[in-house]
Amino acid sequence: MKARGIETHLGRKIVRFDADRVVTEGGEFAADLILFTPGLTGPAWIEATALPKSAGGFIASDEICRVIGFERTYVVGDGGSFPGPDWMPKQAHQADLQALAAVANVAAELEGRAPTHRFKPELICIVDTLDAGILVFRDQQRSFTLPPLGPLHTLKAMFEQRYISVYR
Ligand SMILES: Cc1cc2nc3c(=O)[nH]c(=O)nc-3n(C[C@H](O)[C@H](O)[C@H](O)COP(=O)(O)OP(=O)(O)OC[C@H]3O[C@@H](n4cnc5c(N)ncnc54)[C@H](O)[C@@H]3O)c2cc1C
Repeated sequence: MKARGIETHLGRKIVRFDADRVVTEGGEFAADLILFTPGLTGPAWIEATALPKSAGGFIASDEICRVIGFERTYVVGDGGSFPGPDWMPKQAHQADLQALAAVANVAAELEGRAPTHRFKPELICIVDTLDAGILVFRDQQRSFTLPPLGPLHTLKAMFEQRYISVYR
């Protein structure tokens, strides 16, 4: 951001939005257009349950997607809080990997075996700019971002069609 001359205001709580400015606890700055993305919190209904909660209000899980302190109870996806690297995304791909581990563990338990399947922390994302796509990848070993490439836009569209067709 700095290299592109974009000023950042990090770690300061937003006090309010005015029509032409953003006011934070650490000062204010003018804005022509304000786009606000609220932070994620866990589902509100967890409050009324005995499920263990993380600091952010998500269902606390161990490394095999088992709800902490609950027998044969698993959580996957955005609603869970999982041990792992701090870059671990709340992403559909990550939810899929967690679901594979959880299903394998449920199957193991039903067959009387110990549940031992872990999920791989992995971020794969194609940022689609409509005329190109930017691949962002990260796992425990590698981290890279490719420049915008036309075929990646097409690839993302094909992947989406294939992925959604299962549900349609
Ligand atoms: C704008 C946006 C763009 C994104 N882009 C990408 C992307 O390009 N690639 C990617 O991998 N990920 C992307 N994600 C993240 C991805 O959508 C989530 O990580 C993924 O959907 C999580 O899946 P989930 O099944 O855990 O939760 P969800 O998909 O949120 O599913 C939870 C479901 O539970 C339902 N539900 C909630 N409460 C109740 C209740 N009390 N009773 C019954 N049903 C209930 C909800 O309606 C919802 O259908 C994006 C997210 C957003 C918001």
